[in-house]
Amino acid sequence: MPQHVDLEELRSWRRHLHQHPELSFEEHETTAYIEGYLRSLGLEPVRKTETGLWADIQGAHPGPTVAIRADIDALPIEEQTDLPFRSQKPGVMHACGHDGHTSILMGVAREFLARRQDLKGRIRLLFQPAEETPPGGAQLLIQAGALEGVDAVIGLHLIPAFPTGKASIVAGPMMAASDRFVLEVVGKGGHGASPHETVDALAIAAQMVTAAQQVVSRQVDPLEPAVVTFGTFHAGSNFNIIAQEARLTGTVRTFSEGTRQLIEGSLERIFQGMAQAYGAKVRLDYRRGYPALVNHPYVTDVFIEAVKEILGPEGYIPGRPVMGGEDFAYYLQQKPGAFLFLGCGNPAEGAIYPNHHPSFTIDEKALPLGVDVLVRTAEKLLAHPPRG
Ligand SMILES: [Zn+2]
Ligand SMILES: [Zn+2]
Repeated sequence: MPQHVDLEELRSWRRHLHQHPELSFEEHETTAYIEGYLRSLGLEPVRKTETGLWADIQGAHPGPTVAIRADIDALPIEEQTDLPFRSQKPGVMHACGHDGHTSILMGVAREFLARRQDLKGRIRLLFQPAEETPPGGAQLLIQAGALEGVDAVIGLHLIPAFPTGKASIVAGPMMAASDRFVLEVVGKGGHGASPHETVDALAIAAQMVTAAQQVVSRQVDPLEPAVVTFGTFHAGSNFNIIAQEARLTGTVRTFSEGTRQLIEGSLERIFQGMAQAYGAKVRLDYRRGYPALVNHPYVTDVFIEAVKEILGPEGYIPGRPVMGGEDFAYYLQQKPGAFLFLGCGNPAEGAIYPNHHPSFTIDEKALPLGVDVLVRTAEKLLAHPPRG
């Protein structure tokens, strides 16, 4: 029978992965590492995508299926820590803690194998590629059938903003849908002294930026969080030349699908209408990113119960939604589930930098806590799965 997992082992997996980070959709060595480990436990990984895989642990007794997800990819960042196990790959770094997520799920595998005789149902371990790069790996796994027969799906993210020993979660919308757009305005250039012979793309685009502010302030329900931000504005070439073209980019953040559609539609309508009014041409390229991450209320409650049992009643921090994005959102569009923020902050370990920072690191003492919280939550869901 497999042994229970301990901090030493979790640490050694995490450090190996940390030294060998791989970018989204390129996680070949990482996938091979996970596959070798799972096979050594007697499991049979299913590989239907280029990178990433899943594996089932069938309990001795029948019951529902709970899927647990870890993302496995790293980021194009040059690591700036002086840790002895720092990245060996220039320009690539596990700066979002996915090395920790992966080792936690490897630990979860062992824990469930150790209790297989008592297990009523099935655990599916999802090792997902490419969380960091849209369109993301979650959709690939889903298309490959990773959620077939699944009754609930859970996952977590390591966050140094909370200290080790604390966890946070929000029922309902917890992370935002994150879209981007490019706006191109084409007028008619000419001499700065003869505006009547031109169509001034710069002046029109400036009005469009102002008009777009009205979408959030006048069209979106005031109780619905929404952001429209222009990040860049490029137009013109010299002080006495009227700009023929303007190119702007920006991002839209929302929590509800209705608000998302409303903003996309409103921007298109306003820009087209203004272009027509001024005799310019406009092209709005609106690209959807990950949808909003919406936690299932019942599964969220089960997570909170498990957190309080494992970390103590004071371990649970009531959360607030954040405007960041996560492709775990796609699983939650298909199945009841929830996503937890697990604290891994600890100044003594240098774990004080936010995710995606070149000095990012985690307090490894959070790893066994992650294993225990996921195992306890999954056990509760097997015993009492969500209905419908
Ligand atoms: Zn990230
Ligand atoms: Zn991440």
